Amino acid sequence: MGLSDIQARIADAENAAGRAPGSVKLIAVSKVQPAERVEAVLREGHRLFGENYVQEAQGKWPAWREEFPGCEVHMIGPLQSNKAKLAVELFEAIHTLDRPSLAKKLANLAQARGASPDLFVQVNTGAEPQKAGVLPEDLDAFVAETRGMDLPVHGLMCIPPESEDPTPHFAMLAEMSARNGLDGLSMGMSSDFEKAIAAGATHVRVGSAIFGARDYS
Ligand SMILES: *Cc1c(COP(=O)(O)O)cnc(C)c1O
Repeated sequence: MGLSDIQARIADAENAAGRAPGSVKLIAVSKVQPAERVEAVLREGHRLFGENYVQEAQGKWPAWREEFPGCEVHMIGPLQSNKAKLAVELFEAIHTLDRPSLAKKLANLAQARGASPDLFVQVNTGAEPQKAGVLPEDLDAFVAETRGMDLPVHGLMCIPPESEDPTPHFAMLAEMSARNGLDGLSMGMSSDFEKAIAAGATHVRVGSAIFGARDYS
């Protein structure tokens, strides 16, 4: 457990999969973690983080960005349309683009600002009713729609169903990404990031294995 252990495991998984060293980016998921745990990882030199809640990120990251130059923070949680404006100001990337109305909103904001965060389309690979994400059968049309809006869609993201082997979900996401000519694959968390790397992940989102368990109480 801890940053250097996870970095070593990522390097091993890259090597085992015949992938170039450094081809997988580690997003350290800092949501809900106490400040001292995040600051320890910042002091170790890590600069790429993931957050799930716009307001929580707004409260924490402006000061850390000043103190630790070069930070990049990615939004990996569900994004409400009324938080989209704040989100494009706070994050270098958004991994949870999942509906046409949000795409439209982000496109309008990108046009007004002349810039946009990198975007990943979230795919609900298990078609779970309670889970966000574009359904697999709707993905190609949705990606085409975002291209029509000039949105910088960089890749796809998924969260496989908890009770299933994640590997077929990762493979499905990789296939959908290749089919649509996309480069980024945001997949893999603390429990399965090595499997995700074997399946082609470019970004793994690891929280508790770096920082310890989250305390929501
Ligand atoms: C919280 C979260 C993670 C990190 O989960 P861990 O199991 O702590 O690694 C990754 N991705 C998303 C979308 C999350 O919400």
